[in-house]
Amino acid sequence: MKNNETHRDLLGSGTFQFACNETVPCFTRCCRDADMLLYPYDIIRLKHFLGMTSEEFLVKHTFTAFRDNPYFPSVMLKMGDAKGHPCPFLSEKGCGVYEDRPYSCRAYPLEPAMHGDPQGGFAITAYRVRHGHCLGHDHGKKWTSGQWMKDQGMEVYNQYNSSWARVAALLSLKNSFGEKGGDNPAMNMAYMASYNVDTFRRFVFESSFLQRFDVSPDRADEVKNDDSALMLLGFDWILRFLGGQGPLREKKSG
Ligand code: SF4
Ligand code: SF4
Repeated sequence: MKNNETHRDLLGSGTFQFACNETVPCFTRCCRDADMLLYPYDIIRLKHFLGMTSEEFLVKHTFTAFRDNPYFPSVMLKMGDAKGHPCPFLSEKGCGVYEDRPYSCRAYPLEPAMHGDPQGGFAITAYRVRHGHCLGHDHGKKWTSGQWMKDQGMEVYNQYNSSWARVAALLSLKNSFGEKGGDNPAMNMAYMASYNVDTFRRFVFESSFLQRFDVSPDRADEVKNDDSALMLLGFDWILRFLGGQGPLREKKSG
């Protein structure tokens, strides 16, 4: 397989052999010049690790680009300017944010595809990806996709990313923002609720949001301090105001 080739196979319930550690000759090769999409929960974990607000993190470490979804921008991790364009979190010892590294860094060599089920749960179909430059394949232990996800701490990410997948599906199904696109204030609101939790918190508590939407006192209390709970409220809000669906309801007037 050539260095620049990529193969993707359905893994399903099969196994794969893989090892990635400081002894592989390609160690940290994949931490350079990466085209890496960040999920909303990635941003929460990273900004906590770095002691930054979500706004500061987005400005310093990300850029937006239209990737799979032509109607709504994805948030991408900004690589460094130094030779080889290293990830800003790459240190001499390896990943400098390892405990809170993004989902894509955890998942490789898996590529999990999420599917919602009618009960509001989700299922994952696992694909195995091989990049020609990656020398970790066919070494070390054999893994099922479930064992790998557990080992890499992906289960909590899977939960939150499955909630995000419902929002992402709505945002990619149709153009919710009309011809104005990024000039439509609704896009800025949806972007804030998706990725910028600290700004969204101010919006929830300093606007008429809690007068307009039926948020229980317990949930309102929870989202004051819990970024993940607030992110889920943001997802519910987007599903309601752009899709007219989901559990968040407008309060009845009068
Ligand atoms: S290229 Fe593969 S084996 Fe090498 S560091 Fe990256 S994931 Fe690990
Ligand atoms: S976050 Fe860590 S594992 Fe992911 S690309 Fe950056 S240095 Fe590598």
